[in-house]
Amino acid sequence: MEERSSGRRRIAYVLPVYNEEENIGVFHAALVAATDQRPDLAFEFVYVDDGSRDSSLERLIELRAQDPRVSVLQFSRNFGHQLAVTAGLDLVAETRTADAVIVLDTDLQDPPRVSIEMIERWEAGVEVVYAQRRTRKDTPFKRATAWGFYWALDRLASIEIPRNVGDFRLMDAKVVAEISRYREHDRFLRGIVAHVGFRQEALLFDRDERFAGETGYPLKKMLSFAASGILGFSTTPLKMISRLGYAISLLAVLLALYVLCIRIFRPDESVPGWAFLGVGMFMLSGIQLVMMGVIGSYLGRVYVESQDRPLYTLAMVAREPDADGHYRGPERRRHRDVAGLAPGAES
Ligand code: UDP
Ligand code: MG
Repeated sequence: MEERSSGRRRIAYVLPVYNEEENIGVFHAALVAATDQRPDLAFEFVYVDDGSRDSSLERLIELRAQDPRVSVLQFSRNFGHQLAVTAGLDLVAETRTADAVIVLDTDLQDPPRVSIEMIERWEAGVEVVYAQRRTRKDTPFKRATAWGFYWALDRLASIEIPRNVGDFRLMDAKVVAEISRYREHDRFLRGIVAHVGFRQEALLFDRDERFAGETGYPLKKMLSFAASGILGFSTTPLKMISRLGYAISLLAVLLALYVLCIRIFRPDESVPGWAFLGVGMFMLSGIQLVMMGVIGSYLGRVYVESQDRPLYTLAMVAREPDADGHYRGPERRRHRDVAGLAPGAES
């Protein structure tokens, strides 16, 4: 509040932590060193402990004792990086305590000094500044799998999700408010951010190596994360069923023609019974796949509806004020909300 009256713009950092006891101290020092370059801004550091099994939480509590700008959220168990970030974003969106939010890993792979450049871009009017890796110091295996993943995502997803971009980004408060309206459980945040829109720009940087400790993303988690990215933003795999069905049906027709030709022009070479079985098998499989594709199309629609995403996001409303003197756009009610009840009016 004090910052607000003095007119300083407020930046909140959302910092997911999972077993980072060796990194937190060094990381926080680097973060403070970076943010000290901008004394004209008010900073808050929201650490989210994602059910760490080491002494990360104690480290965070110590930090809070030394630096009142540190806030700590603790999860009851490990919910995963995407939900840890979501919790931090929700906190800022609900309390409206920041004008912009920066999401940063706490293993020093995303250098805190880059976030200061992000702030400068934001001040120039960009609403989302995402950090794009120019280079990455990962194993060849991780690089290859990442490449394959982005390739598949590019072809399948219904929106354009930038390549080589993690969750390191700055978002204006209005973008954060929109993101917190996306309540899907299987979250692929970078896709959601791309989906929300607004003015987005890339900032190139060189990704460092993890400072200490181990990655919290073993292959199994990485695969399921990749699946969330593709399945969350595409129903193309369902449509591929019917495409395959059509291809196989076409094959059946060609086969039937071939059999017919043999019958007519080389009757002595034709084997009785074979045509019926062969063509029938292809035909039936084709029809089955096409029909599964039909089910798939409906399933895809049910899926999209159940994701219950906002239908649109407004960037501006230019309209006369209503009787109360408020400038208001269309009501943004979600169909799952209790109809007609204002917040707190349930009782
Ligand atoms: N992290 C988390 N929950 C998890 C795994 C990771 O909050 O279940 C945090 C972790 O502390 C780090 C960030 O998310 O700040 C990125 O994780 P990590 O470095 O393990 O991923 P990588 O950089 O290898 O993709
Ligand atoms: Mg890392």
